[in-house]
Amino acid sequence: MKMDSDFVMTINGQAVTNENTQPVYNPATRSVFAQVPDASKSQLDDTVSAARQAFGSWSVTPVEERQAALERFADLIEENAEGIMALLTREQGKPRAGAEWEVFGSAAWLRATGSLRLPEETVDETDERRVITRHTPVGVVGAIVPWNFPILLAIWKIAPALMAGCTIIVKPSPYTPLCDLKIVELAQQVLPPGVLSAVSGGDDLGKWMTAHPDINKIAFTGSTETGRHVMRSAADTIKRVTLELGGNDPAIVLPDVDAKALAPELFWAAFQNSGQFCNSTKRLYIHEAVYDEVRDALVDFITNNISVGDGADADTDLGPIQNSMQYGKVQGYFADCHSNGYQFALGGEIDESAAGWFVPVSLVDNPPEDSRIVQEEPFGPILPLLKWSDEADVIARANDTIYGLGASVWGKDLEAVERIGRQLEAGTVWLNEVHQYSPFQAFGGHKQSGLGCENSLHGLMEYTNWQTTTLNKNRIASDG
Ligand code: NAD
Repeated sequence: MKMDSDFVMTINGQAVTNENTQPVYNPATRSVFAQVPDASKSQLDDTVSAARQAFGSWSVTPVEERQAALERFADLIEENAEGIMALLTREQGKPRAGAEWEVFGSAAWLRATGSLRLPEETVDETDERRVITRHTPVGVVGAIVPWNFPILLAIWKIAPALMAGCTIIVKPSPYTPLCDLKIVELAQQVLPPGVLSAVSGGDDLGKWMTAHPDINKIAFTGSTETGRHVMRSAADTIKRVTLELGGNDPAIVLPDVDAKALAPELFWAAFQNSGQFCNSTKRLYIHEAVYDEVRDALVDFITNNISVGDGADADTDLGPIQNSMQYGKVQGYFADCHSNGYQFALGGEIDESAAGWFVPVSLVDNPPEDSRIVQEEPFGPILPLLKWSDEADVIARANDTIYGLGASVWGKDLEAVERIGRQLEAGTVWLNEVHQYSPFQAFGGHKQSGLGCENSLHGLMEYTNWQTTTLNKNRIASDG
C-alpha cells in the first residue's frame, strides 16, 4: 500500500471517497499536500450500520482470536513503519524521534492491550444460587481523535474497543487525518468488514457522531471546551463517554535539586511535541532558592542543544505548530505577555515570515499567577517559570485550576517529593520523572480534564457494560 497518496475512508471494509474533499497541510511549509474525503451524513449512517452489523459476530468472536487480530495489526504497522513515520512528520510536523515513539508505541500498545482479559466475578456461589458479574461489550463506538498524537490516541481507543468485543469508527482530526486513514485501511487485512472503520471530515462529522442514535459510546480526546459539547450531545441517547481533555500540568521543583542535571528533564517535560501535548508541563514552580540557577540552566541547555525546524530534517528537535488555528492562539499568548510587560528569559519573538508555523522555545520569567499564560493552556512552546517559597502555598497554587490531568514534583528529599505529590489534584502524578505511560497504567483526568480513563483493565472496562446474572438453582427444579 502506498503511504503518501490515495487517502480513502474505510466503510464496511471498502475504500470509499467523496467528491467533496478537505485539504491537508504540511505545517513546516504551510502548503497543501493532500486531500481527504469530506464524509456526508449518509456515509456516516452507512458506516454505523456496517459497524452494527459486524458487532453481532465480532462480539462473540473468541477473545484469543481478537487478540491475534490485534497482534497482526501491530505487525502491519511495524512493517509499514517507515512510510507511516514519514507521513506523520509531514502532516503533524513532529520530528523523527517523536514519530518513532508514536508509531512503534502504537504497535506495542496493540499487543499489550491484547493481553488484557476482562474478569468474570462470582459474587455468590451457594447450593441455592449463583451470582456472576461480567462485562459485555457496549456496542458501536465512535472514536474522536485530536491532532497532536493522531495515531497513538486512535490506537488507545481502537485496541480496547476491539478487545472488549465492540466495533469502532474512527474520526481523525481534520488537521491530521492521513495516518489514521492509512492504518485503518491496513487493518482491513486482518479484521472482518465493519469491525474497524474510518471516516474523515470536519467538526460537523464529530457532532453527527455524538448525536447518532446507533452509536453507543464516544471515546473522545480533545479540548475541554469540545468535551463539554460531546457530553451534552451524548446526553440525549445516554451514550457512554470517555473524555480525555485539556490540562495545565504544574511541575514543582524543590530547593535541593541539581539545576544543570535537571534542566534537560524539565525542558522535555514542557516542550516535547513543541508543547502541543495534553501532559506538557505548563507551569513550572521553582523554589526561590534555586530559581535563578534553574532558569539559567534551562536557557543554557535550550540555547546549546535545541533546534526548531522542519521535522523532516535530521537535526530538528522540535517541529512547527501543527495548524494555523493553533498558531494564531499561540501568537495571542505572546502578544498578551508583551502587552502586560512580562519578561522573557528566552525567546519571545515569533518570526511570522518563516516558511512554516514555527515558534521559538520561550520562557516567561515569573509572570503573575493570574496571567493568561499561567491560567490557560497555551498548547505551544511557551512556558511560565514561577517562584515559590512556602510548601502549602505552592500546592494551593498548583491545584488552583479547573484542570487535573498531570503533575510532577522534582527533588532529592524523597519524603518531601512524595508528601507534596500526594496532595496534588491530578490523574497522574509523576515523582522525579515525567511522561511515563504504560498500557497497564490507568490514564485520565481529574476535574475538567476528563471523565473515565484510558489504558489498563480500568480503561478496557470502559468499553463494556456491567452485567449481573443470578441463577436460582432450586426453584424451578423443586417446583417441577
Ligand atoms: P479539539 O477539541 O478542537 O478537537 C478534537 C476532536 O474533536 C477533533 O477530531 C475535532 O474534529 C472534533 N470535534 C470538534 N468539535 C466537535 C464537536 N462539537 N463534537 C464532536 N467532535 C468535535 O482538540 P484539538 O485541538 O484537536 O486537541 C488539542 C486539545 O486536546 C488540547 O486541549 C489537549 O490538552 C487535548 N488533549 C488531551 C489529551 C488527553 O489525553 N487528556 C490528549 C491529547 C490532547
